[in-house]
Amino acid sequence: MIQAFYHSNCGGHTEAAENVWGYGLPYLQGVSCSYCQTANPYRWEQRIPLKKIETQLKGAGYAAAGLRDIRPGVRNKSGRLNEVILSTARGRVAVPGAGFRKALGYSVIKSTNFEVRVVDDDALINGTGYGHGVGLCQWGAKQRAADGFTYREILSYYYPGTRLVNIYGE
Ligand SMILES: [Zn+2]
Repeated sequence: MIQAFYHSNCGGHTEAAENVWGYGLPYLQGVSCSYCQTANPYRWEQRIPLKKIETQLKGAGYAAAGLRDIRPGVRNKSGRLNEVILSTARGRVAVPGAGFRKALGYSVIKSTNFEVRVVDDDALINGTGYGHGVGLCQWGAKQRAADGFTYREILSYYYPGTRLVNIYGE
């Protein structure tokens, strides 16, 4: 039995479970996916006042008082941000990418694969993909099916090393 996680669209590479939930599974290591580029939204952008971000991060327990700059931190193998770096009144604060997304809202920061820069007291955030990115990419699976891949091929692509069997017996 596997934990068959899925998400809207991966933005080009699915995510390792370990990067999101802190535990790794052999069939959830992340695979490249070029089939979800027709997803809506595939690319997204947000312009959010720093003051608003500061309030939301503080509400989530991060030391964001006096927020004046936000920059991308280290990325993981899938291209998503492990960390977002804040410049605050008290210095530099690293916020986990997943924590930043949760604090600002999953439908606002649609994935942790984004660029961020500050212009005129607003953060400009441009990202790719929608969802945590772990497991099956729904838009990718849809396009693969349209291109003639079978459901078995699609499942074994997004959950590598697994096989589909009937556990009820016949
Ligand atoms: Zn995809």
